[in-house]
Amino acid sequence: MTNIVLFGPPGSGKGTQSAILKKKYGLVHISTGDVFRGLDPESELAKLAKSYSDKGNLVPDEITIEILESEVAKYPDAKGVIYDGFPRTSAQAAALDKFLTSKGTSVTCMLALDVQEDVLRERLKGRAIDSGRPDDADPAVIQNRIDVYNNQTAPVADFYKAQGKYIEINGIGSIEEISQRLIDALEAATA
Ligand code: ADP
Repeated sequence: MTNIVLFGPPGSGKGTQSAILKKKYGLVHISTGDVFRGLDPESELAKLAKSYSDKGNLVPDEITIEILESEVAKYPDAKGVIYDGFPRTSAQAAALDKFLTSKGTSVTCMLALDVQEDVLRERLKGRAIDSGRPDDADPAVIQNRIDVYNNQTAPVADFYKAQGKYIEINGIGSIEEISQRLIDALEAATA
């Protein structure tokens, strides 16, 4: 089973690239951000998640890990999964390892999209026009998401570096150029 952690700051292109990899390899794509946004808006869980995401803060680990595990359980026959936006903390990374071990599998590699902050801010501002996401509309919330990424999420890379599974990908270029870099890296990692 191929388990790809697609990693990178908000606006780095994880969603776009996930869709391409999903199609090419027939993988399941799980974005915790999409799962939170897809909850019944009247449910307590959705309201709780939104109270964090609207400010650009992380939803607490315990809730996020539970949501992730129940999402994975929906695809018992998956030949592989792209994890997009998870793990975002070291505790989530440890939980994912434990979870995959219990299923007799493991993370194949972390593909980390590298994009500088000024480019991210421009992309997110552009996305605000058509995404309809409240967390894309406010520059202060965008900055908080970037800060949360730098403080809480960037250290997750060290977790995979220590396992020799970290692969950095230049995230600047055309969509096709970047997907080709991801494909090359993935094929080298699974060869
Ligand atoms: P982006 O990567 O563009 O910031 P996402 O769609 O991945 O956006 O996530 C949107 C929001 O959902 C995050 O800001 C956070 O509040 C919540 N979220 C998503 N994934 C996680 C996670 N793994 N842990 C905690 N919160 C999460």
